[in-house]
Amino acid sequence: MAHFEKLSQLKDLRGKTAHNGWQPVYDVSVKTDIAIHHSLTKEGDSYSFANYHVHTNGWHEIAYAFVILKDGTIEWNHDLGVLSYHVGNSNKFAVGICLVGDFRSEKPTEAQKRSLKQLVDCLKKDMPNYKRTRGHNEFPGYSWKACPEFDYRAVCSGEKEFASVPASGASTHTIQQGDTFWSIANENEGLSVDDLKKLNPSVDPSKLKIGEKIKIKETASKPAPKPASNGDMKTTSIVTYLKSIGVDSSFNYRAKLAAKYGISRYKGTAPQNISLLSKMRGGSKSAAPKTATPKKSSSPVKGKIKIIGVNSAAIVMDKPDRNSSKNIGTIKKNATVNISGSVKGKNNPRGYWEVIYDGKRGYVSGQFGRKV
Ligand SMILES: [Zn+2]
Repeated sequence: MAHFEKLSQLKDLRGKTAHNGWQPVYDVSVKTDIAIHHSLTKEGDSYSFANYHVHTNGWHEIAYAFVILKDGTIEWNHDLGVLSYHVGNSNKFAVGICLVGDFRSEKPTEAQKRSLKQLVDCLKKDMPNYKRTRGHNEFPGYSWKACPEFDYRAVCSGEKEFASVPASGASTHTIQQGDTFWSIANENEGLSVDDLKKLNPSVDPSKLKIGEKIKIKETASKPAPKPASNGDMKTTSIVTYLKSIGVDSSFNYRAKLAAKYGISRYKGTAPQNISLLSKMRGGSKSAAPKTATPKKSSSPVKGKIKIIGVNSAAIVMDKPDRNSSKNIGTIKKNATVNISGSVKGKNNPRGYWEVIYDGKRGYVSGQFGRKV
């Protein structure tokens, strides 16, 4: 009996969901990879996915060997050697696991994460030629695919998942084709190649894998700014004080300052703010190198464009390259939006507008905006 068959939350649905003939079966020794997917649906199970795959896509059987429901139930659909359709040319050697959910907008449940880790741990023993576990978008030809959209590596390694993205900007970056530490540093204001190396000690910069998530903020230890002038020495508000010395007064930045000045677990409480204020005014010597000037997270507004020449909305990309960028949102036709400039970028003779979208920098193809 295989290890995974002993999992108590396993439900054997082999042959019980919709099928029209059968997919080919090989010996389990052909399987070297585990592929992680999300279903891109808020609901569903093997029955509904099988109906879709068989009756709409015209396949013989459901795509995924395993489906993990939100309550942690693991539905078992295929013997491990079955070739089913889920990662194109890699189908033959990859076993597919799909977690129910649309992880672009929600997160896997704790029960799902637990089941995924247990299942992968078992499969590593049950696949004699096991090599690696990858997200769907890390398989050849799928770097464009928004799947599985959660940090399965952290889940499978049992680490705590990276903190979610604060409003001030992403804390992780998903490696895309052509990315280097240098290009990532360039795209993220205030981030250097050295910062990236420190943030990602286990990542080899010369072997970045497409789809791999790396940290770009989170634990960034930006030096705390030393007050350049005395600032407002009367106020009892840390925010007022920071403004008076020209420093970012957002919660996120204050939290970083607090850490720098030795205030742990900063939550913005009144005593913490007073303590931070007095430490900063006292110019705690251990704190800051002189050079630091905090960077503002948003780019300066240099004008506005109106969205034109699209059917309904223009896509906002994370970098000025329409072939390898990730979509971070859309702006409706005829809307006007602030820009911080325009750039040449790649793969578009018309260049790109550097727009300020949701407080962040994004790019819109040049032909879809007219300066107003
Ligand atoms: Zn997928």
